[in-house]
Amino acid sequence: MNFQNNLEFAKSLDAQDELQHYKNEFHFPQHNNKNVIYFTGNSLGLQPKSTKKYVDDVMNDWANMAVEGHFYSEKPWWDYHERFCEPLSKIVGAKPSEVGVMNTLTVNLHLLFVSFYQPKGIRYKILCEEKAFPSDQYLLQSQVKFHGYDPSDAIVEIKRREGELTTRPEDILAKIEELGDELALVFIGGVNYYTGQVFDMKTITAAGHKAGAIVGWDLAHAAGNIELNLHDWQVDFAAWCSYKYMNSGPGNASGYFVHEKHHTNKDLNRFAGWYGHNKERRFLMEPNFDAVEGANGWQVSNLPVLSLAPYLASAEMFAKVGMEKLIKKRNLITAYLEFILHEIDKEIDGTEFEVITPSNQNERGCQLSVYLHGQGKELFTYLMQNGVITDWREPNVIRLAPVPLYTSFEDMYNFGQILKQGILNK
Ligand SMILES: *Cc1c(COP(=O)(O)O)cnc(C)c1O
Repeated sequence: MNFQNNLEFAKSLDAQDELQHYKNEFHFPQHNNKNVIYFTGNSLGLQPKSTKKYVDDVMNDWANMAVEGHFYSEKPWWDYHERFCEPLSKIVGAKPSEVGVMNTLTVNLHLLFVSFYQPKGIRYKILCEEKAFPSDQYLLQSQVKFHGYDPSDAIVEIKRREGELTTRPEDILAKIEELGDELALVFIGGVNYYTGQVFDMKTITAAGHKAGAIVGWDLAHAAGNIELNLHDWQVDFAAWCSYKYMNSGPGNASGYFVHEKHHTNKDLNRFAGWYGHNKERRFLMEPNFDAVEGANGWQVSNLPVLSLAPYLASAEMFAKVGMEKLIKKRNLITAYLEFILHEIDKEIDGTEFEVITPSNQNERGCQLSVYLHGQGKELFTYLMQNGVITDWREPNVIRLAPVPLYTSFEDMYNFGQILKQGILNK
């Protein structure tokens, strides 16, 4: 499509956008009595207006029924988590029995590592991306130490090449082959949080398996953003938080995936708790653990229903819209944002900033990371003061995520004008 950097053109794209009305289903922070331009749905998604009812329902049931709410409320609390299996399975490309929700992301990854990082003999190394999200780095370091290894030996990072901003897919595959029998686990973020680069999970998973390793993914920036086919790709395990693209609210429950091929494997370690125990017999208070078959066999505790309720509102909205439509709009609006950035760059002197996210649509989701060469923090602050919410990552990067559910093409045009003013005003 031939884009144009003007308001009429942006409005015409909005008029053709079949998801346009979803913008009205979210609460926006206000700036000068107008909605802000919100680019940080990759960090904390906006609140859907439908969320309040889901939370109120639980609060009311608790007030009116107290303990009876566990079994007799409209959405009983004791198996509230099972309501996620169907909608979430569609979002991550899984069978309903392969997904669950509990705890928070890093906690779930630790629990999944209990099952899926079982180093033995020379096979103890973990391959990950360079500069993984810090929580993932701490996770890996503490896990290998827990098993008695030295992180500097057991954790192998795939480096970016000198002077390059993203990781070359062929370098990941080469490293997997090189490590061969020493490789216990490949564990990478499906979408890099800093650059927005999307990894080819299907190919990397197959390569990891060929080397005899387990393959797991952190999908914090992938769930609700990119197409996932975890079941077909034969991914062993994965987890994601729900408060980024999935709009569940600060710190709310995390989703996780365990492939069907592992469901009946009794040799896997797991840290058990009563909510992973045989559903029919859960309240008989028996001494011996008998895991529920499926991902829900990894459940541990009684459910945090007030944290699950907002996630359910959102998961149902996502399942209704469907990833296909979201991805179609995501590709168009991200391309339009990229176009606007290039236009502004041409209108000024062309040295102020650079997009470091891959320009190939198949290697990115809905985030563009922009490296600021001229003004850094001042420009970021100018944007914030003018109603554009982005985030800042050291040393000089702002991340822009035009989330398809609630950003408009007009927002992209307006952003470009504000950005230009910010650069010219310095
Ligand atoms: C956001 C994010 C996290 C956050 O983990 P929590 O346990 O939810 O705090 C972890 N890993 C990655 C890759 C992330 O992007």
